Amino acid sequence: MMQHPLLLHTMLERARNVFPKKEIISRDYSGMFRYNYGEFYVRVCRLANVLQKLGVGKGDRVGTLAWNNHRHLELYFAIPCSGAVLNTLNLRLFTEQLIYVINHAEDKVIFVDEDLIPLLEGIKEQLTTVKSYVIMTDKKELPQTSLSPVYSYEQLLAEAGTEYIFSRDVDEETVAAMCYTTATTGNPKGVMYTHRALVLHSLSECMPDALGLSESDVIMPVVPMFHVNAWGLPFSATWVGATQVFVGSRPDPKVLCDLMQNEKVTITAGVPTIWMGVYALISKQNYDLSSLRKIINGGSALPEALLNGYREKLGLDITHAYGMTETTPLVLSCQLKAYMKDWPQDKKNKILLKQGTIVPGLEMRVIDDMGNDVPRDGKTMGELVLRGPWITSEYYKDPERSKEVITPDGWFKTNDIVTIDEEGYVQVADRTKDLIKSGGEWISSVDLENAIMSHPAVAEAAVIAIPHDKWDERPMACVVLKPDRTENVSEQDILDFLDGKIVKWWMPDRVVFIDEVPKTSVGKFDKKVLRQQYTGR
Ligand code: ADP
Repeated sequence: MMQHPLLLHTMLERARNVFPKKEIISRDYSGMFRYNYGEFYVRVCRLANVLQKLGVGKGDRVGTLAWNNHRHLELYFAIPCSGAVLNTLNLRLFTEQLIYVINHAEDKVIFVDEDLIPLLEGIKEQLTTVKSYVIMTDKKELPQTSLSPVYSYEQLLAEAGTEYIFSRDVDEETVAAMCYTTATTGNPKGVMYTHRALVLHSLSECMPDALGLSESDVIMPVVPMFHVNAWGLPFSATWVGATQVFVGSRPDPKVLCDLMQNEKVTITAGVPTIWMGVYALISKQNYDLSSLRKIINGGSALPEALLNGYREKLGLDITHAYGMTETTPLVLSCQLKAYMKDWPQDKKNKILLKQGTIVPGLEMRVIDDMGNDVPRDGKTMGELVLRGPWITSEYYKDPERSKEVITPDGWFKTNDIVTIDEEGYVQVADRTKDLIKSGGEWISSVDLENAIMSHPAVAEAAVIAIPHDKWDERPMACVVLKPDRTENVSEQDILDFLDGKIVKWWMPDRVVFIDEVPKTSVGKFDKKVLRQQYTGR
């Protein structure tokens, strides 16, 4: 067979050649913007010429501080396809972390959405490598800014040539994109995605039993494009020629529901916090969401209450998926096997709440402390380790922390504690740091949270470990009640509710009621804040 490199521009060219009339829809500052893959291709060529003019060469890093929108999609392709490296910047990072990421990646140019300019203005003095800024907006006039030198995206594009030859002789191991993990301790860690990794990840992601994307879909990622490439969806969706919907700046549940209804979205993806917000809205207000065929939940475990809620409301089982920044991200996706479809609902739920089976192209093991495989009994916990062409082998310019995540025989350590059953379904019990070690046994905070969140008056629950003289650690539940509940709920009510649903020794020692569970920059429960607050550690 031919030795043929796997490069991102082939996705772009397929979209132009086969799907020139298919639409890309983007929520812009002054309304909805619509164009097609034919027009998109020309703008990507113009942008590649702009990058050249701005002095961006092969291997240079280009930062994007942007929401999910069509300009960001253009950058997703123009930067890597012209040989440079797309560095998506997480706009919710703490300022010091954002400065660290930009300087560590040595971004040369930063493309910034209009409403995020103040973020950069506040830190510009500390950015050591940035040579210019480009502002993205649909408004005619550029806003006043202290960023300098500064250009208008639309003006640069208007002045640029429409022809660009995407190089065919780029090595497939060339880095195409970089994303930093929101490390809970220490500085963020940079993960580098090669062209080859992104292409193979997309191939696997599109398969029917992975995420199953098709030309006929209308795909709306809610997961931000600054977080693990929006789970790779912009690449995969372009490749298959699906209609894409971008949710724009600061989307709230109403924006999401309006878009899903008006654009007849068929596939959408996000973290549970998003689906909780959307559920609260569609429970109060009528939306026609009948076009939806798949809601993908990833990033944190899928609560049973959400699974049941969406099934009742929309007749749809949420698809559970798992991955991490270091894994491009897709690793596990949960589908019922053909012979499970007629199982009773309770039994099906037990499967659907697991994170799923390994997607084609990756290899996995679940190992104990000694590095031996744990039994495939759905009960014994061990660490998930991975191997494959879209699993990172190192962190960017960070040899120390790179060493910590690879086993001596070359497997990537996820730091996630999981079980695997005889059918190959994996369930995440916890991250190593969130596990509760009680009397030498492990308690899964995720299982406890799910059990508590199935209480009808509970909106959110986070379970943390508190120190205990005898047992070392015991669980404590921090519970947020629904604002519109009708009954009063006490600590004892929650414990009574859990009785019979969990094993006795998992019963929380304390239940406290809080107004809101603190969230990380990507909307996950931030348990370290709670741990700090209640245990000082
Ligand atoms: P962060 O460190 O900011 O959370 P990532 O998005 O890379 O960044 O997080 C990956 C981690 O998220 C995984 O290691 C795992 O602990 C958790 N995770 C991802 N998907 C799921 C899921 N479906 N269920 C439970 N945990 C998940």
